[in-house]
Amino acid sequence: ISFTDVDLGDVILSNIKYAKYTKPTPVQKSALPIIFKNRDLMACAQTGSGKTAAFLLPIISGILLDGAPEPPASYKPGVPRAAAPRALVLAPTRELAQQIYNEANKFSYGSPIQSVVIYGGAEVFNQINELDKGVDILVATTGRLVDLLLRGRVTLSKIKYLVLDEADRMLDMGFEPQIRQIIGDFDMPGSRDRQTLMFSATFPKQIQALASDFLSNYIFLKV
Ligand code: AMP
Repeated sequence: ISFTDVDLGDVILSNIKYAKYTKPTPVQKSALPIIFKNRDLMACAQTGSGKTAAFLLPIISGILLDGAPEPPASYKPGVPRAAAPRALVLAPTRELAQQIYNEANKFSYGSPIQSVVIYGGAEVFNQINELDKGVDILVATTGRLVDLLLRGRVTLSKIKYLVLDEADRMLDMGFEPQIRQIIGDFDMPGSRDRQTLMFSATFPKQIQALASDFLSNYIFLKV
């Protein structure tokens, strides 16, 4: 398949052209139609395979169809504003989170979609400031997201897309409790509404368990 065979829309297609992506990579060829069919996906894919665009392009397109942008959270005196993104991407490191955020901006350029990146080791108030302006796609490392969920600054009540990127690295770094806390404890709508996409270079038992706990009726893809 080519990029024009899936329903990406003119804005995204022109951004793909501008990025000089002439044809989809193997993981994009396989994953794009699956994600467009709203199926949960567990994909074994390496860094450098083009997995970022594989999940971002359908998410951006889905959010645009749904009607972007997310308005800024309304202000009520004495109550913290909670940002309500429609897509959440969890990443193991701030570098990867920043990279995903840059790609999200690149492919949503010229659309009303707003992306925000949050990670630890950086000033939290600047991130809260960004969240307060309204966010459609939130890219996050797990610790900082848990922090902002506990502060009531982010709500997951509107999540339509959840991505666990480099899931095996997140587990290697000891983030499984945070992942389970984020998906299990905070307000995520039922799995019927949410599409969950997991990417991992390897597929050991611990990853299989995570997939069976958080994905529903998923398609397994190895490229
Ligand atoms: P990723 O595996 O998502 O980190 O992507 C690895 C690199 O490949 C990044 O620099 C992307 O910008 C680039 N890339 C992804 N998809 C394509 C494509 N279809 N054509 C050319 N470059 C791509």
